[in-house]
Amino acid sequence: MSWETVIGLEIHVQLSTDSKLFSGGSTSFGAEPNTHVDLIDLGLPGVLPVANRGAFYKAIRFGLATNAEINLTSTFDRKNYFYPDLPKGYQITQMALPVIGKGSIKIEVDGEEKVINITRAHLEEDAGKSIHDLFEGETGVDLNRAGTPLLEIVSEPEISNAKEAVAYFKAIRQIVTFLDICDGNMAQGSMRCDVNVSLKKTGDDKLGTRAEIKNINSFKFIEKAINYEIGRQARILESGESVVQETRLYDSVKNETRSMRSKEEANDYRYFPCPDLLPVVISDDELNEIKNNLPELPNEKEKRYIEESNLDISEAKIIASSKTMANMFEEACAKTDDSKLIANWLVGDISALLNKDNIDLEESKLTSNNFAVLIERISDKTISGKIAKSVLEEIWESGGSVDEIIESKGLVQIQDESLIEEIALKIINGNPSQVEAYKDGKDKLFGFFVGQVMKETQGKANPQSVNEILKKLLS
Ligand code: ADP
Ligand code: MG
Repeated sequence: MSWETVIGLEIHVQLSTDSKLFSGGSTSFGAEPNTHVDLIDLGLPGVLPVANRGAFYKAIRFGLATNAEINLTSTFDRKNYFYPDLPKGYQITQMALPVIGKGSIKIEVDGEEKVINITRAHLEEDAGKSIHDLFEGETGVDLNRAGTPLLEIVSEPEISNAKEAVAYFKAIRQIVTFLDICDGNMAQGSMRCDVNVSLKKTGDDKLGTRAEIKNINSFKFIEKAINYEIGRQARILESGESVVQETRLYDSVKNETRSMRSKEEANDYRYFPCPDLLPVVISDDELNEIKNNLPELPNEKEKRYIEESNLDISEAKIIASSKTMANMFEEACAKTDDSKLIANWLVGDISALLNKDNIDLEESKLTSNNFAVLIERISDKTISGKIAKSVLEEIWESGGSVDEIIESKGLVQIQDESLIEEIALKIINGNPSQVEAYKDGKDKLFGFFVGQVMKETQGKANPQSVNEILKKLLS
């Protein structure tokens, strides 16, 4: 039997507001447990939540960037469930009338474009965290995260395989980071996703029964969890049995998914309108203000880089695809106007290092200021491209500042032509047989002389001068 995979993603994006969705508590990451907890986050009797308008503005940015319906009036509901990290016994979320309705986003897999429709994006509060590995035999509860604003972005079940799911997640991450509404830091849990997977007979209209894999926070695990789940469900269906609708978790150590609990129905949550919060109304003026201040998105940057900075399409695409790389490009361009040189380094050496280490630029030790200085030193001829490469490699491994590395290692390029000429003469006089062979027409030997001069100067001679001087001396 042949099966088609159907996937829908629910992505939770932590919005980068300073304070929480309904309280003045701080949202900053990594504080001592239970130090960023307001009375409202604790859900003490008698306290009342107040909606954070800033979270709405950020949600609306997302709506505008995904051509979505914007609901200028939206409402909050209570989703009731019991869990130790949820002090109130319910989560405030938007069920009936979310701030963002239907939208869409483009993804690209192996050069093929596909549009994935977004069902909705609603605001809700994050829960706290249960800590299982701090106390022997006991569980700790840290409520710092409780009340952090989340935008939950729900896709239609239109994703067809693990690669598309990863591309979709990456596209959402790209948009939210460019919009400056989320830091995109997956290791810190700023973006997590629930993956819904089902199989159906090829060509069938009716969707199969799905399993929902909860709370995955890396590209790699999304891909692995989906592929594992496809295999598991195919085996069940092939043997004539049915898939159970349930919530599963992905165990990255064993690379498998395991059942957590049978799937709740919406009515298990006893949703009802939150009586503590009025509908939130965003005015047309506010909407226009958000529209007018929408940050530049990757496709706009791409166009600008081609038109203003003279990059070719492939360079512009790579650089505009990551917020950090785009920032690096723009900061370096502000210092040195050789945009082609800057693009070459980003698309060439730096992308190669990123691939080698399989990391994002923001995870590397290279800062945009350091990169700008590196380019400046190449461009003002303090160092050659070759030396720049070794400086970059050093920064990549251990950080540090470009100028300090150049200074402490004595890497400044030799520009002094009389010095280069002196060294070149020494090489020529020391290698009479090569000189003779070269003069007899063995042109390839020119590289030998260049190499020797470079070796003698530890790579520091200005390569252009070396070439010119050797040509002159050997003619
Ligand atoms: P719930 O909130 O109970 O998880 P929803 O109906 O809101 O359920 O769907 C959540 C996600 O599951 C959506 O992204 C949707 O596209 C996806 N989904 C729904 N049905 C299926 C299915 N049969 N197979 C795969 N994904 C599905
Ligand atoms: Mg769900």
